[in-house]
Amino acid sequence: TFYPTRKETRSTCCYCGVGCGVIITSEGKQIVDVKGDPEHPANAGRLCSKGATLHLTTKLDARALYPERRLSRDLPRDRVDWDTALDHVVDRFADIIQTHGPDAVAFYISGQLLTEDYYVFNKLAKGLIGTNNVDTNSRLCMSSAVAGYKATLGADAPPACYEDIEQTNCLFIAGSNTAFAHPVLFRRIEDAKAKNPALKVVVVDPRRTDTAQFADLHLAILPGTDVALFNGLLHVMLWEGLLDMAYIRHHTEGFEALKETVREYTPKMVADICGIGEKDIIQAAKWFGAGPTLSLYCMGLNQSIHGTEKNAALINLHLATGQIGIPGAGPFSLTGQPNAMGGREVGGMANLLSGHRDLANAAHRAEVAQLWGIPEVPAQPGKTAVEMFEALKTGEIKAIWIACTNPAHSMPDLNPVLSALQHAELVVLQDAFNNTESNAYADVVLPATTWGEKEGTVTNSERRITRVRQAVPNPGETRHDWETVVDFAQRLERKLGKANLLFQYPDTESIFNEHRETTRERDLDISGLSYHILETQGPQQWPFKAGATQGQARLYGDGVFQTASGKAQFMRAVYKGTADKPDARHPFHLLTGRLRDQWHGMSRTGTLAQLYQHAEEPVVSMHADDMQRRQIKNGDIVNIRNKRGNLVIKVQQSNEVKPAELFIPMHWGSQHMQGLGVNALMPSAFDKNSKQPELKHTAVNVEKL
Ligand code: SF4
Repeated sequence: TFYPTRKETRSTCCYCGVGCGVIITSEGKQIVDVKGDPEHPANAGRLCSKGATLHLTTKLDARALYPERRLSRDLPRDRVDWDTALDHVVDRFADIIQTHGPDAVAFYISGQLLTEDYYVFNKLAKGLIGTNNVDTNSRLCMSSAVAGYKATLGADAPPACYEDIEQTNCLFIAGSNTAFAHPVLFRRIEDAKAKNPALKVVVVDPRRTDTAQFADLHLAILPGTDVALFNGLLHVMLWEGLLDMAYIRHHTEGFEALKETVREYTPKMVADICGIGEKDIIQAAKWFGAGPTLSLYCMGLNQSIHGTEKNAALINLHLATGQIGIPGAGPFSLTGQPNAMGGREVGGMANLLSGHRDLANAAHRAEVAQLWGIPEVPAQPGKTAVEMFEALKTGEIKAIWIACTNPAHSMPDLNPVLSALQHAELVVLQDAFNNTESNAYADVVLPATTWGEKEGTVTNSERRITRVRQAVPNPGETRHDWETVVDFAQRLERKLGKANLLFQYPDTESIFNEHRETTRERDLDISGLSYHILETQGPQQWPFKAGATQGQARLYGDGVFQTASGKAQFMRAVYKGTADKPDARHPFHLLTGRLRDQWHGMSRTGTLAQLYQHAEEPVVSMHADDMQRRQIKNGDIVNIRNKRGNLVIKVQQSNEVKPAELFIPMHWGSQHMQGLGVNALMPSAFDKNSKQPELKHTAVNVEKL
């Protein structure tokens, strides 16, 4: 047979941005075991509960295995062959493009795609069709981190690495429940603390999460007050003489203006805004200032209408103390998804272009057009996630192609999104699973391969590129995501009467090599990297320039930044609060987040009974004082309500939340519970720079049923 009886294949975990290496054991067509790759630098053999059970999630019951199509919304979808499915989509796309222009179609893709998949999707939209309407669920995840890095350091490049955890004296964790969302990294933090008890761990989080419980100092700020806290820390550091004035002078710009801004953020004022003690603010500032300090941050900063400012205000602290580009120090955004980084590298978002280029930059557009051999890349900005579904609702966008993501669960303010999908002229869904909320809206289903079946690369949070490898053959009639895109693109080229030139890729390596060329001389330059090097030397960090023998662990060690002047820019960030504010009718802050054993919309983890042992059903966590005041008992069912919808859910008493705060995990959607899930209640209001919506917080009322 094509596959030997039993074999081991090195690959990568498909869940979070830690990017753990795995060794897959397969027998014939079946994956039978998975273990951590002891040689992978991200995890050294460790896996968390999700990664360690990957082999148990490979049953085919929940898989989309054959192409399907329906010709009208009142008909069920029929199984069809690939030619029929793809020709149908080509005809509909060509018709819409010719009648309404290229911006009448859109692609909504995913941080779970591999870099090579991402690359061809981006080229299909921007290079062949001529629309920048290609955005991704990474918009809901990382775009504020991107905007924060670019505004301050000049490039979307996380400067630190995982090894810094072992070399730091102060871990400043903000808006991240690392213990649940990045468990293997958290094990590393626990080890570092055990080896070096002097290491201080400060956690900034409204909730007393497992991560917060581990901390030496938990700053349980009120939701959305992060900017006030970070400005307050800078105020104290300034007062206490903890800043590195020489670093500020030589390597940064804009400090005097920032100083003016933080002047008013006294410990007293910040304590009042954030709801924490003055002493704790001063203590955190002293530990941060003493350094070296490594900041780890995630959705608590990113998913906010001021996400860019939150990121920048934290980066300001590193610049002002010179704690960047040295061992054990730096701002370090943790990526939620396995390949949000790779997607950014190939420019797979509405405002980006290949090789960390900007769509708004005419020179960058010209460079990409030349690399692709096309006359031009369109200048018209593409629609970002929230805007894309709004345009679908108004009819400005008529056809949407969704790949490897589940917007009917994950988008904020879900009811208008569902209405948009309902009324779209064409919804194409390219996915490995058929158990998602979005599946019901698809006119065409294009079945995709998934973990254990795919070839390509991903980049983890520390800029490390790892190979993803195929262990078993494609099940059913599934195809690799890049293959489907290339096949469609070639058919569309023929249909539109264009020369068949842009999509000549026999394999993923040829796509990687083209992507590599777009990075030459850019901040993420991987011109020296190849599949061969990844094969023979293992995962590598970027940049990895031509002639280099290894990647670069840290960035900005020379104090030179990717800005026009070469100096980092302080950003003046002002505290503004959350989009939804509690009032008499909506007195509770409702917070969302992840659980340890579930992943996103549960299409994979929700198929495995043992992953429900940690949390068997969705509950709302509520403080005992609020329960007593409202005469609610543990296990009672309540209605959580705001103007966007409601959720009927069981109450669980919890000390993790403060009075007037509630927490509901984001994993359960209408496939797994009654109601649409917690995201339906969240505002679609977004950060004006990053366009990332505030999925972390809203204000609600609670009614006992
Ligand atoms: Fe997978 Fe993340 Fe767990 Fe590692 S920490 S095994 S990448 S889910």
